[in-house]
Amino acid sequence: MPGRRTDGNGNLLVVTGIHPQDGLGVVDLRTFEIATLWGQVGENRFSPWWGGIRPGDRGTGQSGTGQPALPARGDLNPMRVTFATEAVPGRPNEDFVGATPDAIVLLDGAGTPPGSESGCVHGVAWYARSLGSTLLAGLAQDGKPLTEILAEGIKAVASLHDFLCDLTHPGSPSATVVMLRRTADALDFLVLADSVLILDVIGATEPMVICDDREAQVGAAHRTAMDALASGSPGHVSAHRAYVETLRDHRNRDGGFWVAAVDPLAAEQALTGTVPADRVRSAALLSDGASRLVDRFALATWRQALHLLDDSSPEELIRRVREAEHSDPVGERWPRGKIFDDATAAYFLVLP
Ligand SMILES: [Zn+2]
Repeated sequence: MPGRRTDGNGNLLVVTGIHPQDGLGVVDLRTFEIATLWGQVGENRFSPWWGGIRPGDRGTGQSGTGQPALPARGDLNPMRVTFATEAVPGRPNEDFVGATPDAIVLLDGAGTPPGSESGCVHGVAWYARSLGSTLLAGLAQDGKPLTEILAEGIKAVASLHDFLCDLTHPGSPSATVVMLRRTADALDFLVLADSVLILDVIGATEPMVICDDREAQVGAAHRTAMDALASGSPGHVSAHRAYVETLRDHRNRDGGFWVAAVDPLAAEQALTGTVPADRVRSAALLSDGASRLVDRFALATWRQALHLLDDSSPEELIRRVREAEHSDPVGERWPRGKIFDDATAAYFLVLP
């Protein structure tokens, strides 16, 4: 919100935003974005002032703001979370993964292949980390429905850069989201876009696999040209760029596919559910760079992927993905947009 100083000696830029209680909010912005702010004012002198208002300061007369309290943990069996993430060599990792003792968040950032415009000076990796850490804080601090935490997170991250970046640009950074939260008696999950959640439900022969494949369905009609070319060839690079730019027209639209980007309404499009906590033995969260071992390369079943995570580790699953990618360097056996992709796997196991 720009304005004049009341003494007439210059301008005032007021930056406001919301952040979870106990988060650092605009202080984070100062830490990470001071160089950007400096770039905006150029040679002019400026002085920053940082302050905050807590919800209770607004004179509502209420203690707190009616936020649902965190559900009781009860006497939960401990859960062990392990995860690994690996970027495409030589590129920033656009995946994010983070966990608390009772929650896991995994994001896969998307939106801007090399040579494409995005309208955002921060980039996809920044977006995934900002949204991922905001969601993790939201999960740790209150018991709201996951869709609400996601909608608020999308809004909060938009407020971190809407004064600097063109968030109406169709290529603005976006991300898939998987959230998992365990409370005393339930396991809540949310899946938006094409990252995968696998739940090993006690008593079921096959694991429950939750994946929102609307992007793949929309994309199937547009990828023929790209898949016909050898990956890494100049023709493939431009066909991939054209494919991503075509899909943008279907992003966050009815009849298209939904991702976390700028519009908080995307949260309502996520697949969500709850299973009784004592019915789940383990769960895995995979970005599509890791799930390709199963859903693109068909080198394992979902059950085998769970066994691999259980007997070995998320690192081992990613190692096998890389091995397969190296064995097919131009996408002959498995045509794909990205020969290598950021790969992230998280595994959660309820201990006896
Ligand atoms: Zn930005």
